[in-house]
Order: sequence, then C-alpha cells, then structure tokens
Amino acid sequence: MPRNNSEIRTRFAPSPTGRLHLGHVLAARVADALARQSPAGKFLLRFEDIDAPRVREIYYQNIIEDLEWLGLHWDEMPLRQTTRTAAYEAALARLLGKSLVYPCFCTRREIQDEWANMAAAPQGPEGPLYPGTCRRLAASEREAKIAAGTPHAWRLDSQLAATITGPLTFHDLRFGTLAANPGLLGDVVLARKDIGTAYHLAVVVDDAFQQITHVTRGEDLLPSTHVHRLLQVLLELPEPEYLHHPLVLDEQGKRLAKRHDALAIAALRESGQTAAEVLARVNAEFQPPLRTSWHR
Ligand code: GLU
Repeated sequence: MPRNNSEIRTRFAPSPTGRLHLGHVLAARVADALARQSPAGKFLLRFEDIDAPRVREIYYQNIIEDLEWLGLHWDEMPLRQTTRTAAYEAALARLLGKSLVYPCFCTRREIQDEWANMAAAPQGPEGPLYPGTCRRLAASEREAKIAAGTPHAWRLDSQLAATITGPLTFHDLRFGTLAANPGLLGDVVLARKDIGTAYHLAVVVDDAFQQITHVTRGEDLLPSTHVHRLLQVLLELPEPEYLHHPLVLDEQGKRLAKRHDALAIAALRESGQTAAEVLARVNAEFQPPLRTSWHR
C-alpha cells in the first residue's frame, strides 16, 4: 500500500516470555509518542515469540491487558513472529545463496573450550565472540556433518558480508549518525539450532515487512543495530531511522529484568498506582525528541 513519506511507523516488540515491567512501558511509550508526532502515524505491536521454549500463551494476553490498562493503543493487527517462519527461511536462503552464512555445529561447551585454548578470545561488547571454528570447515566436512544429521545453527560470515557492503552508517535520533561496525558481535547466529531462526534475522525482516520507519528500543540493543544495518543492505531492505532510548534502572542502578517483579505493571496496578502515575514515571525518564529538532 503506498503511504505518505512523512508517516511515521513505529513498533513495540515485546517477547511473551514474562510480564511487562516499567522498562517495557518506557519502550512502548517512546514508540507510541514518536508515531503520534505525525498525523497519520502508526504504532504497531509485534510479539517476538520465536523463542518457543520460553514463550507462554498467557503472556500474550497479559501484555495486551497491561497496554490497554496504560491506555497505549496500537494500530493494525498485532504480528506474531511465529507466523513469519517462511519469510525468515527465505531471507536465510538468500544469504546462503550468496555464501554469506555457514552451518555451525559447535555446542556451547565446544565454544567455551575453544575460548579457553585461545591466547586471546575475540571480544565483543557483551563478552567473547564466536571464534569462527565452523567458518573454517571444508565444504566436504560441512556436507558430511549435515548428511549425518548433526544439529546445526547458521551463522553470518560477518567479515565477508562487510567486504560486500563496504562501509555503512545508521542514524539515531539521540546519538546522530554512527558508523556501523559489522564485526562488533562477530559471526552472529541467524538461525538457532533449536528454533530455526534468531532475533537478528527476524527483527530485520519484520521491521521491513511492517514498514517500520523508526525503530525504537533500549540502548542495550545498540550493538545489535550494527548487525541489523548489515543485514538490511544484504537483503536489500529499507533503512529505518533509529532511536535507542535509555533504560529504566532500579535503585541499584541495574537495568530492570523479568526478576524485578515489584516493578511489573500488574504489581504496580495492584499496589494502587494509576496508569497516569506509571506513565508519568516513564515520561520523566525519557521522551523522544520532537520532530522539529530532527536533522540528518
Ligand atoms: N523483543 C525485544 C525485547 O523484548 C525487542 C527487540 C527490538 O525492539 O528490536 O526487548
């Protein structure tokens, strides 16, 4: 469907693996507030539910109830990533056709052993990176393992991919234009052994599918954006704008996690807080910049 170039489309993309907490409210609120800056803007809801072992049916409903209680109304039908498997497979097949992904047979244990044996394991922002073991396998070895039914993930050959795309940038409404470092997270998994897909691939494919113009999310996911930019170019998908917002921190300055039950929306509601109070609390944490101040 053709759409006006100035129409902003954002999404809130929770995983139905737990209840929403204050951090999610900030994420949803930022996406909503940004979309409402354009008259025909759309705020979409996407359930990132590919992690089947951790997803529980009850959480879809809980998320909807919490958003409704907060008065955050999404447009269009919520999208469940579990309905999008064919699109992820097609994207992976495309990368495979360009020899940019390779099967990885390593177990977690084998990767840890490899790190232990290295003089210096390659480091990323969240710890050591995959050492590239299976990238170095001969084609005949790969074929033999696949023929033998050895379980495998698919990893992006990030260095090869970067040589194809050349230097890339992305633009964040808070941080400005940043140079993408495609190797920042190493050879990331694009299809997990157990579920056949993975976050980085699914998010990039779906942001394009849902015509998201502005990807808003917590700044903890900033490293992922470097990989996403690379994938967007490889898959010839449009480049969205980004807004990585600060995280809501607890009293100890640590980021909120599912274990912070006291800050779950349901708990705040039951303790007598109103939706207006909860929203005021996250609004005080951060608000998206107003459109007049955006520049590239
Ligand atoms: N599903 C992710 C989360 O729950 C959000 C991913 C994204 O916004 O790109 O934090």
